Amino acid sequence: MFYNQSKDDVLKELNTSRHEGLTKKEVQARLEKYGRNEMQQDPPTPIWKIFIHSFKEPLVIILLLAVLLSLVSGIYDLTSSGDVKHAMSSFYEAIAIMILILINSGLSVWQTASARKSLDSLKKMNDHQVSVLRDNNWEKISVNLLVPGDIIGVKMGDFIEADVRWFKTSELQVLEAHLTGESEPISKAVEILPEETDLGDRKNMGYSGSTVTNGNGYAVVVATGMETELGKIAGLLKDTPDSKTPIEKTVNELTRKLMYVAGCVVLFTLVAGSLKTWLTTGTFSFTSFAAILSTAIALAVAAIPDALPAVLSIVLTIGATVLTKSKGLIKSLNSVETLGSTTFIASDKTGTLTKNEMTVTRFFANGIEFEVEGRGYDPLGEITPNGQVESARQFIVASILNNESNVSKNENGNYVPFGNPTDVALVVLGLKNDLDRHELLNKKSEIDYDILRIFPFDSTRKMMSVVVKAGDEFKVLTKGAPDVLLNKADADTDKKAFEEKIDKFANEALRTLAVGERIISEDEAMNAAMEELENNISLLGLAGIIDPPREEVRQSVETLHNADINVVMITGDHAKTAQAIAAKLGIISNNGTQVMEGKQIDRMSDDELFDQVENIRVYARVSPEHKQRIVNQLQRHDEVVAMTGDGVNDAPALRAADIGVAMGINGTDVTKDSADLILLDDKFTTIEHSVEAGRTIFTNIKNFMRHELTTNVAEILSLMFGLLLITHDIGNVSSNTPTLTALMVLWVNMISDALPSFALGYDVPESDIMNEPPRDTHKSILADGMMSRIIVRGITMGVVVFIAFILAARSGMQVEEAQTVAFLTLVFGQLWNVFDARSSKTLFHRNPFSNPKLIMAVTFSALSSLFVTISPFFNEVMGTARLSDSVYLMVIFIPAIPVFLISGIKAILLKNK
Ligand code: ATP
Repeated sequence: MFYNQSKDDVLKELNTSRHEGLTKKEVQARLEKYGRNEMQQDPPTPIWKIFIHSFKEPLVIILLLAVLLSLVSGIYDLTSSGDVKHAMSSFYEAIAIMILILINSGLSVWQTASARKSLDSLKKMNDHQVSVLRDNNWEKISVNLLVPGDIIGVKMGDFIEADVRWFKTSELQVLEAHLTGESEPISKAVEILPEETDLGDRKNMGYSGSTVTNGNGYAVVVATGMETELGKIAGLLKDTPDSKTPIEKTVNELTRKLMYVAGCVVLFTLVAGSLKTWLTTGTFSFTSFAAILSTAIALAVAAIPDALPAVLSIVLTIGATVLTKSKGLIKSLNSVETLGSTTFIASDKTGTLTKNEMTVTRFFANGIEFEVEGRGYDPLGEITPNGQVESARQFIVASILNNESNVSKNENGNYVPFGNPTDVALVVLGLKNDLDRHELLNKKSEIDYDILRIFPFDSTRKMMSVVVKAGDEFKVLTKGAPDVLLNKADADTDKKAFEEKIDKFANEALRTLAVGERIISEDEAMNAAMEELENNISLLGLAGIIDPPREEVRQSVETLHNADINVVMITGDHAKTAQAIAAKLGIISNNGTQVMEGKQIDRMSDDELFDQVENIRVYARVSPEHKQRIVNQLQRHDEVVAMTGDGVNDAPALRAADIGVAMGINGTDVTKDSADLILLDDKFTTIEHSVEAGRTIFTNIKNFMRHELTTNVAEILSLMFGLLLITHDIGNVSSNTPTLTALMVLWVNMISDALPSFALGYDVPESDIMNEPPRDTHKSILADGMMSRIIVRGITMGVVVFIAFILAARSGMQVEEAQTVAFLTLVFGQLWNVFDARSSKTLFHRNPFSNPKLIMAVTFSALSSLFVTISPFFNEVMGTARLSDSVYLMVIFIPAIPVFLISGIKAILLKNK
């Protein structure tokens, strides 16, 4: 039992060294022996199973029925009526529908495979890292590569992802609710425990799946993968079923409905067709029934947007990958969709809206205000008034001792920061004064300093403290938000002077930080609790720290405002500092009424907050707990909220938000895990780009759906008109002839129409996509004019195709020729129409050449559709016929007329609005 052995015995048993770690060679050997540090998973469903599975879809079953009907009709022709030509065309039809089914299954296999691939690569990018000591060198590795015997270091915000035995801890607290059900963090220590200690009380152990909520610690890994306590209870992790996004659900639902429509249409056709034959000819033969049957099959194929669901998931998956290019890592397809409908973006200030490059530019100590020259990490810069600096020494020493950061020169001679940026600013201030933390601690000054305990900075407390031994004295040094420290200040502190300076610094958009100390006894130093120590503080001084706003943010805020998206700043900083920066960034106008402080939120009930939440643009001095309340109240207003966060305590708010946003560089593992979007570069502008990408993907999906569905409506109508309106033979065309053959319909659905639709899925955004209000998530994708656009254009196209067919028949063409005229009119009508489908406004609003993929797809569709009318092979198979040149010209260009006409009328209407 590792918990009831001394830490040295554990290290010995695991054959490792706490100073050097394992050697690379030993790590390799252990990886082979114990395997990777992963939970075993069910193997993913093999591709062939997905292929077979796709045959169970209702859509495919309907198509299989169509195959059966074609075969029956063909066999009947061969055996009874002897019409070999008709029989062959039925067989071709059956084969073509079979090919369609295979293509459809192929698409669904492709979709699953590509989704799997992009999810895998997203997962890899999101892999957790851990600090590990190997070969006497600390390095970051993927947690999957940990082996028993590895020495690891963890800090607040990290996950523990193996079972470990602590050998050094500093105020370490860990949340182990997943194993013990205990919802409070547990303090960890290193002492040996009795053998009968329960899992929840084993304070010297850490378990896989826990999170570090405070402090830091060093440990040796004792078990990995399935050998961990978590592995033992988790058993096999099930392959997570991929859940469908709302839009996929809507589309699947729509396809299902259309299938019922198809069923009804087929039944109706059979009945109406038979009735029509009987009424017009007075007889009813199997030959005429076969003709009706082929219309019915064509209709069944026409009514279902076959490729839609698969193409939709492919476009969504690819959208998620495209987003990463703009440095936004999206974790689920759902969020791609939600991003586009975001109405509120609540962002942390420091590091996201500002550069997080902090410099102390002013400070106030010993009753004197000092000015500091120089920006950045270079420790050069004069401090004025020069002669008085010595009097601020105590303040500066306390600032750099109560501090875990550092700056160092890199090989290019530049100074680079390590650690918390606020603390770095203080370290640089020290160096400008020739005071170096390491020198103080390494006994190079007249007083010996020793740090005994550290209470790290926490954004809820807004303070950090250390207990030091300074010569023979024991002291607690505290620094933190000035208003918090003033409340804990002793009677001697000149509070009024401090308050004035706080106000002054904050009005200049400076971040303020107070530093204080208190002399304590040795007993207090060793044993007193944090709350007791951080009291009765004598304030030594106040720092004013500049954190310049990121230049590009102002533009982003403006873009988002134009897109009717509200931007809210959430910060732990002082209200005035926050307000000054928010004004600089254009988040608020200068009047300041839109600022609220954390303590005001504390006093409000949820309903009171609900009443105000939509008007507030800056929240200052808030803690992570407030963020969740803000999200909840905004959501009660039906707002779609994106919320950023970087600390452990932000995780619940990120989970509550519609889009939780974590920082890729400075974020903790815990926040990254609860987020939907990870900003790989930590920049606010990336949120704006991701929202734009989300809107684009959604609009493209809408456009291609509109195009696909318009085609379906046109096909159904032209066939129905033929069935219902042609009551007697016209020229060579009998009244039973369908306007289009099933194979023509199939061609349109799978080739001439599908490829341009697909290309629409990759379209570039319309230039004004960020000038429109966010999409209302409650509305169906078919709302806002989509339905009427589909219907108006579908009907027009159906009518045009039908008229083309009638005119062709009247001019004395053969059946095949008349059907070919109808077929090409439909193909070209849709190819013209696809340019119209790119915009919710009109055809003229977009440059037709801005999507090269679309141009390629349209060219290919046009040429291949013409080809099937001149190739003897396709003439035979599809029932097409070669036309005369003048007719070709007509079927290519006449269908453009209604498209331009509709757009023209719309353009005039829009102008007159
Ligand atoms: P956000 O990142 O949410 O925009 P923030 O980073 O400014 O906000 P916090 O980091 O919670 O907010 O800081 C809040 C206040 O705590 C600061 O204004 C400062 O006074 C104090 N503070 C910040 N960092 C430290 C630190 N390292 N030690 C002591 N006090 C600090």
